[in-house]
Amino acid sequence: MAWRSSGRTNAELISNLYKSQLITSDRVRASMTSVDRAHYAPAAPYEDSPQTIGYQATISAPHMHASASESLLPFMPENKGAKVLDVGSGSGYLTHVLANLVCGADGKGDGKVVGIDHIPQLTELATSNMRKSEEGRRLLESGKVEFVTGDGRKGYVEGGPYDAIHVGAAASEMHPVLIEQLRAPGRMFIPVEDAEDRGMFGAQYIWVVDKDEKGEVKRKRDMGVRYVMLTDAPK
Ligand code: SAH
Repeated sequence: MAWRSSGRTNAELISNLYKSQLITSDRVRASMTSVDRAHYAPAAPYEDSPQTIGYQATISAPHMHASASESLLPFMPENKGAKVLDVGSGSGYLTHVLANLVCGADGKGDGKVVGIDHIPQLTELATSNMRKSEEGRRLLESGKVEFVTGDGRKGYVEGGPYDAIHVGAAASEMHPVLIEQLRAPGRMFIPVEDAEDRGMFGAQYIWVVDKDEKGEVKRKRDMGVRYVMLTDAPK
């Protein structure tokens, strides 16, 4: 299914994802069109598949980035000062897409995205990837995008509370500290591995965690997925 959406250029990849209805929102389509995946994926950037980026990390497949962005979209209005946390930011690709959603494609709107990864070489890589475009440089220089090195399982309380939290690696639990750092209302998109409950698609599922205005939390299990694990930092 996923491979059919590949393209020869970034525009073609995104257009094919849209035709296959793996992207349904015009805002997500515009945001992904304006970020060249070749700045973030070293090989075959316009294939709808994950690619290794070193340090045992991968850049996720474009259809997963689309799905995460669409799920969080209602909590990421443009130019309203929305705050977003991207846990396991890796290549920095999704961090850039999320920043375009909250700040607008020209990066001039009011919003902020923090990308956190526990491998310092990857936060450096994400920064240099983002510096490849003028819009990316503007987002970094204005402080609307910040990459920090740290254990994403603890979130990043300094930048919160967050309207939206994306987790880009499979967690072993729902991590209550991340839920605490959600704004009321806010939403978290998190893959969780349940070693006990091996379903049809394996043991990992996306969970969508919603906190309402009153602070009440509801969790909903979504599709089966395959992510690398959220782990302890390598020694
Ligand atoms: N969203 C990224 C996904 C990268 S893969 C992208 O598409 O490019 C998952 C990332 O999670 C890796 O970069 C890995 O270093 C990071 N990671 C794993 N455990 C972590 C932890 N405890 N804290 C922060 N980052 C973590």
